[in-house]
Amino acid sequence: MVSVLRQALLAISKSRRAERLVTGSPLTADVVRRYVADDIGAVIDRLTRNGLLVTADHLGEEVTDRAQAQRAVGEYLSLLDRLPAGADVSVKLTALGLRLSEQLALDHAAVICQAAEAKDVTVTLDAEEHDTIPGLHAVHATLRKEHPDVGVVVQAYLPEALERCEKLGGARVRLCKGAYTAPGAYTAPADIDLSFVRCLKALMAGTGYPMVATHDPRLVRIASTLAVLDGRDTTGFEYQMLYGVRPAEQARLAGLGAKMRVYVPYGADWYPYLMRRLAERPRNLAFFLRSLVSR
Ligand code: FAD
Repeated sequence: MVSVLRQALLAISKSRRAERLVTGSPLTADVVRRYVADDIGAVIDRLTRNGLLVTADHLGEEVTDRAQAQRAVGEYLSLLDRLPAGADVSVKLTALGLRLSEQLALDHAAVICQAAEAKDVTVTLDAEEHDTIPGLHAVHATLRKEHPDVGVVVQAYLPEALERCEKLGGARVRLCKGAYTAPGAYTAPADIDLSFVRCLKALMAGTGYPMVATHDPRLVRIASTLAVLDGRDTTGFEYQMLYGVRPAEQARLAGLGAKMRVYVPYGADWYPYLMRRLAERPRNLAFFLRSLVSR
């Protein structure tokens, strides 16, 4: 049942008609504010004052015209001016034109990496729909030659995730469960968790920098145990969680001296991002629907 609901919400996340309905309603504002920063500067200031690190995401994806892709680059360049040293930006290659051409996305990402380096900010390439994954890793491999710190996301629900982690030796790798659907992907929670742990073991034992992106308390505990077993101190890996999800846990981990980075999305194109958050947790759907009828 949960899985059917998840599939339905992920399908709705791609529907332009549903997008018009939801984004046109002023009633969704509270739900959006829970997950999306309305004032990115203020949110980053607050989080960093509280000892949290940030990765900022200018929302937008699946761009199909060049001008729009170029505008996304411009947004990232002005975002970089507002970020403190040590921050990270999360970038979706489909926002930079991957659907138009891999070269275009690569060129755009290189501009962002260059500007980020000058500000002591890192760049991480998000993982999106399954058909973009080969392009993602091709672009990442090319970028790494000039920008060795550029990070990439691996989705544990993909059966090839472990092999991917093993091949990414030395890289900054964000490991997450995976927020989309993919043919052949693990769907049972136990299988996804098992793959996550296998990948985590490879990353922690490897020479790169693991970024453990999960809110799952069991996986957080496993990550901290593996880090100790592999001799990594608190500077040798980081936890990552989404803005608006388990903020008390974020504060607790930061309070223990761990590197805790919060993924902060902002911007007008929040619809697909919000739908993926609702799909992750059916209880959120009730919260969302209640907010629509309780005004
Ligand atoms: P779950 O089992 O889904 O959740 C564990 C617990 O966390 C839940 O029981 C609940 O208490 C809480 N929780 C989880 N999600 C929510 C929510 N939306 N609202 C409220 N509570 C929630 N996916 C990609 O495919 N590509 C990416 O590039 C990507 N980047 C990410 C970056 C970061 C920093 C994070 C944290 C996640 C990212 N994801 C990405 C999403 C990820 O793949 C999962 O879909 C998402 O994190 C939920 O999985 P979970 O590991 O938290 O475990």
